[in-house]
Amino acid sequence: MTHPAQPKASHFINGAYVEDTSGTAIPVIYAATGEQIARVHAATPEIVEQALASGKAAQQAWAAMTGTERGRVLRRAADIMRDRNHDLSVLETYDTGKPLQETLVADATSGADALEYFGGLAASLSGEHIQLGEDWVYTIREALGLCVGIGAWNYPTQIACWKGAPALACGNTMVFKPSEATPLCALKVAEILHEAGLPAGVFNVVQGLGDVGAALVTDPRVNKVSLTGSASTGKKVYAAAAAGMKHVTMELGGKSPLIIFDDADIDNAVGGAINGNFYSSGQVCSNGTRVFVQKGIKEKFLARLAERVGTAVIGDPLDEATSFGPMVNEAQMNIVLGYIEKGKSEGARLICGGARCDMPGWYLQPTVFADVTDDMTIAREEIFGPVMSVLEFDSEDEVVARANDTEFGLSAGVFTKDFTRAHRVIGQLEAGSCFINSYNDAPVEAPFGGVKASGVGRENSKEALKHFSQVKSVYVRMGDVEAAF
Ligand code: NDP
Repeated sequence: MTHPAQPKASHFINGAYVEDTSGTAIPVIYAATGEQIARVHAATPEIVEQALASGKAAQQAWAAMTGTERGRVLRRAADIMRDRNHDLSVLETYDTGKPLQETLVADATSGADALEYFGGLAASLSGEHIQLGEDWVYTIREALGLCVGIGAWNYPTQIACWKGAPALACGNTMVFKPSEATPLCALKVAEILHEAGLPAGVFNVVQGLGDVGAALVTDPRVNKVSLTGSASTGKKVYAAAAAGMKHVTMELGGKSPLIIFDDADIDNAVGGAINGNFYSSGQVCSNGTRVFVQKGIKEKFLARLAERVGTAVIGDPLDEATSFGPMVNEAQMNIVLGYIEKGKSEGARLICGGARCDMPGWYLQPTVFADVTDDMTIAREEIFGPVMSVLEFDSEDEVVARANDTEFGLSAGVFTKDFTRAHRVIGQLEAGSCFINSYNDAPVEAPFGGVKASGVGRENSKEALKHFSQVKSVYVRMGDVEAAF
């Protein structure tokens, strides 16, 4: 019997599923049990060529449609996605291992938001008129052309939509490569877009590992590369794109600070720290993994945190009561276990967790370390798992300097009842996506992205349209041309 997660074929090209079993087989393992639930094949050079050629061929006609027409397709796709939210959420859970309690509200729904939002904006893309005496300049906001999207494994539906929706709204076409760890969901996004009326070739999906990504990035027909991944992959992909002078958006990793002042509402601060460390079992780029707590409330904060973490329901991700699922795969689980051991050996105080769960699948206990110092490995490197580091601080100036002492700059958060201080501190933090008395909200209306090693460009919001389009300016002379000779 075929598992319900098995896709019709590995790739989606030119409006249809395409298979080529000569590509390396990629097993899809369900993280909660370790069992294989599906299999896809990596794209061969022929498949890569088909996808790029179809994306290139479809672009001009897609860009020539009105924004209203393009937007209508995206909004229809959003409606279909919402109608099928339950099935898509189950698939997302099979793909990633994330609990259904999360996927029902954070994945297809977030993808649908992006399709709806950018579908709505597509018709409003316009240039401007600049009067220069009797002459004038007008500008045209044009599509970039053929774009490549490359995804990480933590949010396969959302990433495909966050990249695809603004790209398509602007009149670009896209070839999207999901992470090899979670290859299923992007195929459904392509299927739904075509059901909604997307012309063939406008959104294509190919499977593969880094070599397929590299082949896409270096192809001369590609005008833009949008990557969600680690900072080290980002540096490689950015360099490869630069060689071809391509546009880029880089959504990379982080080691973000979450600062809790002693006047903060403790339960809200604990809630923010839980959302910023344990949602999706900690596999979220913007997580506030360095939790700086002011000295006066530290022990109270730790006690309440341990109490609430103890109520996490760890178990079958398909059971809606489960609030904490497994790591995406065994390799990632082992990476995180390595960091937990480093935390212990470097002298951090273990408050809770600190081990693998005694059950099948790749489950780790939600883990909190206290007495973490700035130089410890767990305070410096992105772990991408459920490991929170709590650091103590005294003064505002001190915590701002320590919070900024990192190569990363994706997110930052502040909990305090003193709003003047909240804005003053946020103003000094080197981060792209910030929160006051909250953590990890990512509405499509808000720009999302990092500074420093966390990336370039912004996803979501009107900002994303700037990163998927370019401006042509046209000077119009009304009188005679003066020339030197
Ligand atoms: P990786 O950087 O390992 O991979 C990201 C994607 O790039 C994958 O599809 C990968 O393929 C592909 N890839 C790898 N090498 C190359 C290459 N040379 N050329 C082109 N493509 C390549 O990230 P993970 O999948 O492990 O995801 C975790 C990382 O993503 C974390 O660092 C996290 O912080 C970051 N992230 C950032 C977000 C943001 O918006 N800022 C959001 C979510 C995650 P394959 O894996 O199949 O080999």
